[in-house]
Amino acid sequence: MLGLSAAAAGAAFSRPLDAMNPEKPELPEKKLKILVAGAHPDDPETGCGGTILRYTQAGHDVTAFYLTRGEAGIPGKTHEEAAKIRTAELREACKIMKAKPVFGGQIDGDTVVDRSQYELVLAMIKNENPDIIFTHWPVDTHRDHRACSILIYDAWLAQGMKAALYYFEVDAGGQTQTFHPTDYCDITPVIQKKHEACFVHKSQKIKEETYPEFHTKMERFRGLEYGCDYAEAFVRHSRSIEGWIPPKMI
Ligand SMILES: [Zn+2]
Repeated sequence: MLGLSAAAAGAAFSRPLDAMNPEKPELPEKKLKILVAGAHPDDPETGCGGTILRYTQAGHDVTAFYLTRGEAGIPGKTHEEAAKIRTAELREACKIMKAKPVFGGQIDGDTVVDRSQYELVLAMIKNENPDIIFTHWPVDTHRDHRACSILIYDAWLAQGMKAALYYFEVDAGGQTQTFHPTDYCDITPVIQKKHEACFVHKSQKIKEETYPEFHTKMERFRGLEYGCDYAEAFVRHSRSIEGWIPPKMI
């Protein structure tokens, strides 16, 4: 939502405004298009899956962009075999989140940031024409996460910063680093569905390994910061317009 004043929002909507963000109305003025861009299958889900569900349950359109298909992500499998398995997993996750998957065509572990990739990602963003973009925070130990972040950032600049730009975190501390959130989304109402979407990535042993070690702690810690049980956290680019983020469930 862009530009609706708190007073107008109060007149338009009978339910209370988000207590933590009194300037943000509970509902946007129109159906929004959201783009969530990650480097690998499972990045949009683990970093942003609860927020994606909050958007789609509110009737907005979400596209999940996967820069790679996780080709290098299954020990003992060829790139082709792994890509096939992981594409099936992400499609299942997108079905649960009601998001549309789109692919960047790069190779896991070997991502490239060059003129042609800048152009491809810009073309994708022009085609999707999102109101709000979420992507990796660029200070991250994984090269592919950094590549995705920089490609999306460049496209955002090339489009005149017309969408709102937020960064999400993955495996905070382990991968995402020096991340200090400016915005939050209460994912308490959708936490089980988010976990369903994450745990279909069986090839990554997310349920057994990554989730208890990183993501459960992140969701609870960000929930403590925001004042709810579970939250996802974001950094809004300081030059970005403010996007509508589903408000806290009071
Ligand atoms: Zn990743």
